Amino acid sequence: MAEEISERLKGRIITVFCSSSSMVAPVYFQAAQELGQLMAQAGAGLVYGGTYIGLMGAVSRAVREGGSITIGVIPASLRQIGLADEHLTELIVTDGMRERKAQMELRGDAFIALPGGYGTLEEFFEIVTAKQLGFHSKAIVLLNTNGYYNPLLAQVKEAVEQEFMKPNSLELFYVAETPTEALGYIAHYQPEDYQQKWFKPPVIPTTEEGEVPGSE
Ligand code: AMP
Repeated sequence: MAEEISERLKGRIITVFCSSSSMVAPVYFQAAQELGQLMAQAGAGLVYGGTYIGLMGAVSRAVREGGSITIGVIPASLRQIGLADEHLTELIVTDGMRERKAQMELRGDAFIALPGGYGTLEEFFEIVTAKQLGFHSKAIVLLNTNGYYNPLLAQVKEAVEQEFMKPNSLELFYVAETPTEALGYIAHYQPEDYQQKWFKPPVIPTTEEGEVPGSE
């Protein structure tokens, strides 16, 4: 990775969403490990789901072995059944999944979703939706290892095609094919003023006197 990219990522915290499955093909583990190694080389820290299993374990081990910080966020119930990696720089234990996602959003300067199942998809779309509504303006990358997300991207384009979303909805996140490309995007990311999601501005109902009902 270019030195200039490393320089820009130094000290940044990246939240990574990814699969808890240990059954996926080696190509996915390789990409997860490579991402962790590159983050550590650059001196970037990791926020993630806090477990040692699946791709999550692969990323966090690589970051830790590379000497950078690892912050896990895990609900108490998952820790109780032994899923937490107890050797992280910091383990944040939450009451439930909602608080966990809030912490993962709060702690990260940028987000990368690797291939995953429902958990990853939910985390990815939640962070995209929050950006769409203006709750944050951080970089979001979908890492399309092995073309895993091609069908999902086709669905998103279909949603735009049929006007369920505006064309600029596609600009809310960046699709990278490799970990290097993902980190390069984050390093150079400049938050833009994302225009409103609405096709037409929402109409605020008023009374005849021009007051907004319920606002007194
Ligand atoms: P999935 O893609 O369904 O495997 O879910 C993985 C994502 O959801 C991760 O980014 C985690 O934050 C969260 N997650 C799901 N299952 C677990 C688990 N057993 N332990 C820790 N985090 C999990």
